[in-house]
Amino acid sequence: MIEFQSVSKRYGKEIQALRNVSFRINKGDFVFLIGPSGAGKSTILKLILKEIEPDRGKIYFKNKDITRVRNRIIPKIRKEIGVVFQDFRLLEEKTVAENLNYAMDILGYSKRGKKRKLQEVLELVNLSHRKKSYPRELSGGEQQRVSIARAMSTNPDFLIADEPTGNLDPETSWDVVKTLEKINERGTTILMITHAQEIVDSLQKRVLHIQNGEIVRDIEEGTYHEKL
Ligand code: ADP
Repeated sequence: MIEFQSVSKRYGKEIQALRNVSFRINKGDFVFLIGPSGAGKSTILKLILKEIEPDRGKIYFKNKDITRVRNRIIPKIRKEIGVVFQDFRLLEEKTVAENLNYAMDILGYSKRGKKRKLQEVLELVNLSHRKKSYPRELSGGEQQRVSIARAMSTNPDFLIADEPTGNLDPETSWDVVKTLEKINERGTTILMITHAQEIVDSLQKRVLHIQNGEIVRDIEEGTYHEKL
């Protein structure tokens, strides 16, 4: 699905954000990307989304080299990747349904296609009954699930969740994680950036651990801290 081959990235002269980073995420994987603040996690995210370019190395998405693609290809790549952020990024003046429809409009869904997809993704996140609610009327966990529904409305096969539970209490975090697990079980590849140790430890998925711009650990069924 996504592969980094010896990717390095500097910001200016001083900061080496990534150093020779290599990893591969296969179709259907659920991967936690962990590491302290400043380790390089967001830089990996930005490289995948083509917001920035690597200085060295190669990046492949679905077996295609996307290291240096023409600008007009970038929206096409982004369309195939769903992204969920820590702060939900919902439009406050729009209802849940309107938020999702708005995203689908941008992608040119037909009216019928939109209606069906709206139902499908709201069922996926268990929020069919909150279609007409405004974001402020929902709990943080519910808002994040709306944001997941929005990301899924474009049928991505790859979903990146950037600290999706960072603003949530443990209980609602769990609903969000369960939703992501369900999406993964249905075939979507997931990369979740997180600091939530309990979540990483209980799910026992693959862990990619980055520190000072280098991958220091990449293990299946991993835990947040290295087992001694
Ligand atoms: P993380 O997401 O793990 O917290 P980042 O990828 O944001 O880490 O940052 C990696 C390193 O690059 C840090 O030292 C950070 O300060 C630096 N950095 C990130 N973005 C920029 C930027 N736009 N300009 C300069 N330095 C940056």
